[in-house]
Amino acid sequence: MTVRTRVAPSPTGDPHVGTAYIALFNRVFAHQHGGQFILRIEDTDQVRSTPESEAMILDSLRWMGLTWDEGPDVGGPHGPYRQSERSVIYREHADLLVQMGHAFHCYRTPEELDALRQQKIASGNQTALKPSELALPADEVARRKAAGAPYVIRMQVPEEGKCPIDDMLRGVIELDWAQVDAQVLMKSDGMPTYHLANVVDDHLMQITHVLRGEEWINSAPKHKLLYQYFGWEMPKLCHMPLLRNPDKSKLSKRKNPTSINYYRRMGFLPEALVNYLGRMGWSMPDEREKFSLQEMQAHFDLMRVSLGGPVFDIAKLSWLNGLWIRESLTVEQLAQKFQEWAFNESYLTQILPLIQKRLEVLSDVVKLADFFVAGQVELNATDLQTGKLEPDQTRKILQYSLWRFEEQRSWNRDAINTALSALSTSMGIKLKDFMLPLFVAVSGRQSAPSIMDAMAIIGSDMTRARLRHALDLLGGPSKKETKEWEKEYRGFNQPDAPENG
Ligand code: GLU
Repeated sequence: MTVRTRVAPSPTGDPHVGTAYIALFNRVFAHQHGGQFILRIEDTDQVRSTPESEAMILDSLRWMGLTWDEGPDVGGPHGPYRQSERSVIYREHADLLVQMGHAFHCYRTPEELDALRQQKIASGNQTALKPSELALPADEVARRKAAGAPYVIRMQVPEEGKCPIDDMLRGVIELDWAQVDAQVLMKSDGMPTYHLANVVDDHLMQITHVLRGEEWINSAPKHKLLYQYFGWEMPKLCHMPLLRNPDKSKLSKRKNPTSINYYRRMGFLPEALVNYLGRMGWSMPDEREKFSLQEMQAHFDLMRVSLGGPVFDIAKLSWLNGLWIRESLTVEQLAQKFQEWAFNESYLTQILPLIQKRLEVLSDVVKLADFFVAGQVELNATDLQTGKLEPDQTRKILQYSLWRFEEQRSWNRDAINTALSALSTSMGIKLKDFMLPLFVAVSGRQSAPSIMDAMAIIGSDMTRARLRHALDLLGGPSKKETKEWEKEYRGFNQPDAPENG
């Protein structure tokens, strides 16, 4: 048997360090066994998936050296490797399940589904919606069908009993069928859901081992059942422990930067990031902390993954990065790293148009553009307070901008401008005054060349990290304030979502 693994990211945002973590373990595992590692793009959520996000995922994994043997860009014998290009395959498989009686057309309206769920909650019964509850009288189905009503395809699931799931790291886990609903497999827009597409593709792409995050354990019973319905052998499952913040909560962008773009912009070396991710739940047999991808592969043993939630700690990562810089690079290689990182034509030509008018001598670049290359900028709480704004207004501006940026789909000057203008209007603060704390937080000074352009260039994650730092200096909202602020913030009109690009 040839070992074949895959990473299957959904291109719905920034390239997440969690994706790189899962890619790393899948790649190492497959290659250690002389097998293949596949990259598949799971973009069936047409509303949230964007080509920009896909490009960033490919680019950042490649930057880390986590290359793949088959994928949307390199092709391979089991393509296409982008789910949006495989709709016909899913439709055929969903229809097959319906013919075999393992799935059914469901004409329930969203209102009826809500009512059914409410009834369950009211009766204290929290179990999932089952086929028997979703069923409509045959004449009603016929009437809706004749009227051309939209429908989804749902899978049949047992009402009760246990489903044993064999996990390579956890042994057999028993999950309750009562908690598993009649999962939608095909949506009314004709697109498959994750569950159907994932199972069909893993089978057709001959995946033998599925190493993925533990958040997917609860999906395993549905997947197991789908494999049984199709009469296919199921790949071996291995649910990896979730990465955690230092406070042990699930790693989230609200607490820590999670985008690979942030770590890249900050000047972490890809070798160090890969090394650090390799230490998330795994260790070298001799416990050494610094190792390369090749060394990890040479000594890898999946059974040595420990399930205690590994903490992704930036201080530790920085320490390791320092080791790599000091111990593993010649001065020439370090110079090369600097060039790749920021001192190159591509980055300079983004920055220079913003400062060219103010330059007298080339060395002015340091004082005018330092914040384009800095990580965090030097700040004091007093720098952030300007005469025109109440202290609480300043804190709110920082927090609300952060919230808005977390929801921001596209990251360019126009999109940033639209978002911030709408926010300042909602808060009743003139844009000029509203921008002052943002200027200071992002640039470390009272004024700067177009700060919105600067935000676009340094990227969403670096911008947010600086806003978060400024807010921390002033004291972020208390629990009570967070509640009040969230309520106020939710009441604001969202700007029209700008087009991607
Ligand atoms: N598309 C899923 C994700 O975004 C893949 C989960 C899996 O590996 O099955 O993580």
